[in-house]
Amino acid sequence: MTWLDLPADSGFGPDNLPHGVFSDASGRRRTGIAIGDSVLDLAAATGEDVHATGTLNAFLARGPRAWADLRARLTAWLTDEAHRGRVEPHLLPRSEVTLHLPVEVADYVDFYSSQHHAENLGRMFRPDSAPLTPNWKHLPIGYHGRAGTVQVSGTPVVRPNGQRKTPAEDAPTFGPSQRLDIEAEVGFVVGVGSELGTPVPLGGFAEHVFGVCLVNDWSARDLQSWEYVPLGPFLGKSFLTSISPWVVPLAALEAARVRPPARDVPLLPYLDDTDAEPWGLDVAIEVRLNGELVSCPPFRLVYWTPAQQLAHTTVNGASLRTGDLFASGTVSGPAADQRGSFIELSWGGTEPLTLPDGTTRTFLEDGDVVTLTASAPGTAGGRISLGEVTGRVEPAPAP
Ligand code: CA
Repeated sequence: MTWLDLPADSGFGPDNLPHGVFSDASGRRRTGIAIGDSVLDLAAATGEDVHATGTLNAFLARGPRAWADLRARLTAWLTDEAHRGRVEPHLLPRSEVTLHLPVEVADYVDFYSSQHHAENLGRMFRPDSAPLTPNWKHLPIGYHGRAGTVQVSGTPVVRPNGQRKTPAEDAPTFGPSQRLDIEAEVGFVVGVGSELGTPVPLGGFAEHVFGVCLVNDWSARDLQSWEYVPLGPFLGKSFLTSISPWVVPLAALEAARVRPPARDVPLLPYLDDTDAEPWGLDVAIEVRLNGELVSCPPFRLVYWTPAQQLAHTTVNGASLRTGDLFASGTVSGPAADQRGSFIELSWGGTEPLTLPDGTTRTFLEDGDVVTLTASAPGTAGGRISLGEVTGRVEPAPAP
């Protein structure tokens, strides 16, 4: 219960309390907590400098005890009428604030952990081989991305120029990507870093990771398919990665934790989560193109959990830093309307989607707006929202 007048289905009740960074007319960036249609100015409400830095990093670095302490205080403030007089002056209408990138992103890693997504791409691109590569069920495949081009939801998606070459062409050409796509993903934000040389075991996940956001890993498929052999994704991905402005603490997702899919290949001990605390998450994603629902990817079916991704990232001794972001990889389910990218939804561009207005789509056109939203079971019995990540495609600059 809360003394706030919240819509029943707001998704931002007292059991969520996501952290973000906002500014008002003053232009000053500070930490806020989304509650109902409001944002609680945490810097003003607490008087603590750690919430006035303009990013979440300083608070995230303080670790799980500080995160839990703040959450307990916030819960008391927002549920006990006795605190109303003190808290209410620091609530601002969310519609009147500007949201910013919540975290200064340190290192960015992107995985490839949805079996249905990996199999779909395998069937399209390697029709004569097994859909999954031989390593897929033994380790969570990933690559290091470009942290500096991770931006907040709403950042324009400028169509990238680049080299592309189809198998039918003799030589590459240069120009705007003609196969601009999305990847619907869930991202995890590291709060507490780790020592170089010391791996983080599966059980250390919640000691290091603060929370969860939504990620759209915009992808230029034509640039990607020409450049990726043999070292992996590069310019086809690095032009922009969008994240949602609200970071939902792991503590808000306790009721969303589920066992990941059954493992049918024995795992090496550092990845074996048979007897570990489960870190699958029942996060339901929705993908909208120009306002129309086109897909509902189920994150709970993703094969590799974020705890396994973190254990794998550090098993060679690589250290973590506050602000590290790692994303799940495109989330796709087994059904056609659960695919988390247009290359899958249109099956490589061969089966265009028909939209409600009668137009069709394979890949994105200039002016298209893609919005990802997601929700998960909350600890109060309803559903909590992970907010949204949105972007509008703008024309490429003249090459
Ligand atoms: Ca991706």
